[in-house]
Amino acid sequence: MANRRQLYEYKGGRCAHCSLAVREMVQRYGTVDRMFEFNHVDPAEKHPDYTNVIRRVLSSEQLDEVDKCVLLCRQCHGILHAQGLTGHVQFTVNVAGQTATQTLNGQLILDMKEQRAKFLTNERVLVVPYRLQIGDQEPKLYFGTTLEKEGALLSHFRNLPQIRRLRVMAYRSDRVLLDVEHVGGNKMKMTLDVSFPVLTSELCGDGEDDPMIWLRNGVGLTKDGEVIYNGTVTCEGTIVGV
Ligand SMILES: [Zn+2]
Repeated sequence: MANRRQLYEYKGGRCAHCSLAVREMVQRYGTVDRMFEFNHVDPAEKHPDYTNVIRRVLSSEQLDEVDKCVLLCRQCHGILHAQGLTGHVQFTVNVAGQTATQTLNGQLILDMKEQRAKFLTNERVLVVPYRLQIGDQEPKLYFGTTLEKEGALLSHFRNLPQIRRLRVMAYRSDRVLLDVEHVGGNKMKMTLDVSFPVLTSELCGDGEDDPMIWLRNGVGLTKDGEVIYNGTVTCEGTIVGV
């Protein structure tokens, strides 16, 4: 089941609690059947036809479904449900006089022997500072929480013929995470660092209905079964799902 393994790698490739690795289980036992499970952080969100959705070939619907989950080994999944603990964590980040706050909802596993609580969430940490440059203006500090809110970043895409260029850089380095250039008419050229988690993209080929590459949550997946953690993707033309 290559597709299932691809989804496991998309979710980090290991149990979110005990770190049991999918790849190692494959090396050791030649299979990962019955060892790992997707745990819905909010069970009410589970797709009514979950079993079928998860079995199909890679699709946006399937990724939407596993985005609601954390990957757990079977044992840890059992412990989580047996303890039945939920919680939330609030992050507040201060950079250059600006503050961003994010509350993450999740579940907890308590280890009494190690005196440790593990917080498990399917949500992305977005309280990360970036620099956004619009056209030739000086780059300005924006948090991921702001860039994502109501498509704040995407609203600039529509103005591309006027602003010509849009770039997002890491806050503390010159690393370019997103570079969108107007190349005439309605066309644009976009280079996206796969690790940039704010933008969700689906890249389609000419005459193809289904995406060839999905980029989301800082991970890339191809319909051929590759999972990409590092690198950039450059595309021109139609962009679906942004
Ligand atoms: Zn585990």
